[in-house]
Parts: sequence; structure tokens; C-alpha cells
Amino acid sequence: MPQVLVILGRQGSGKGTQAALLAERYGVIHVSTGDMLRAAVEAGTELGLRAKAVMDAGDLVGDDIMIGIVDERLADDDIQASGVLLDGFPRTTAQADALAEIAGGSGPDLAINLDVPIAEVTERMLARGRADDTAETIARRLELYEAETAPLLAWFEDRGSLAVVDGLGSEDEVFARLAEVIDGL
Ligand code: ADP
Repeated sequence: MPQVLVILGRQGSGKGTQAALLAERYGVIHVSTGDMLRAAVEAGTELGLRAKAVMDAGDLVGDDIMIGIVDERLADDDIQASGVLLDGFPRTTAQADALAEIAGGSGPDLAINLDVPIAEVTERMLARGRADDTAETIARRLELYEAETAPLLAWFEDRGSLAVVDGLGSEDEVFARLAEVIDGL
């Protein structure tokens, strides 16, 4: 299996933006499961129809579906050749276990948690003023993150593959911190 990197972080942490920049710098393929699901919704596929209701409710799409999608994508030639930066996956420990199996060995090479406190991400999401970003839906999504995704930090830490990067500051500052961690691999 080629290099597998993971970026974790709360909604509004800037993880999608940084993942795109990092993929460009390091020549790995950026795979955002949120983008894949939105594309499926847009295309009106069966997956898209099923995912839409779940996403609109702010819930997580089922583990079996997500694991199937990622398993299939990781087998593609571009990723086999260049490696991957996963953004939005894994989001549950069941997904992390599955990824470890897919990636072989003890799992991904590195997981970076882009750390931004709850108060700050809430402010950022309210400021961007998207229709689905009301105070209520933001709180719900962040709660789900703490419940389902935060336990992944311990999962990666136990395997010696977790790095925590401070996500406060300008886009350039945060990028420099992330690059330093990856350069240290
Ligand atoms: P956000 O970080 O705001 O949740 P994403 O673009 O990462 O945005 O994901 C959008 C939605 O897609 C999520 O709220 C969830 O419903 C679904 N989703 C994305 N990735 C996963 C995953 N790994 N497991 C379950 N659901 C997912």
C-alpha cells in the first residue's frame, strides 16, 4: 500500500483547505469523503439519494457505506502510484479499524489533528453564513464530532501515529506548521 496520510479536525477547522494545499505540495491525492458524497448527491446516484437525507440531518453516513466507498477509491491507480491524504475519513473507530486493514500493518502512516477550539470553529462557521450553518446545526455537528470522531485521537495515539497541530493563525502559518510535521516523517 502507498503512503496513507489522514487529516482530522472539527468542522470549520480549515482542514479541507489545508488538505488541498498539502496534497499539492507533497504530490499525494486529496480524497475528501464529504466532496465524494456531495458529488454523488449532485449526480443523483443511488448512493447520493441515500446520503442526502443523512447529510441534511447532520448525521453520519453509515460505516459500511463509507468503508465501501473509501476501499474502492484507494484501489484506484492514481492513489496506488502517489499515495493519499484522507480528509473526512475515518470518522468513527469502526472506520479506522477498516482503514488499518485496508492500509495494512498498523494503519495510516500519520494522522494530523488540526486543532481549533469549539468556540473558535463555532464563530468561524457562523461568520461564513451558509444556509445549513445555524447555531443549532453547528452545535449538533460539533457534538457528534466529539462523540464519534474525537475518540479517534486516542486510536491514533495508541498506534504512535498522531500529531497535533495548532490550527489558529493565518492560512500560511497553519500550512507551515503542517508541512513541518510531514517533513519530519
Ligand atoms: P463537515 O466537516 O462539515 O462534516 P464534510 O464535507 O467532511 O463536512 O462532510 C459532510 C457530511 O458528509 C457529514 O456531515 C456526514 O454526513 C457525511 N460524511 C463525510 N464523511 C463521512 C464519514 N467518513 N463517515 C460518515 N459520514 C461522513
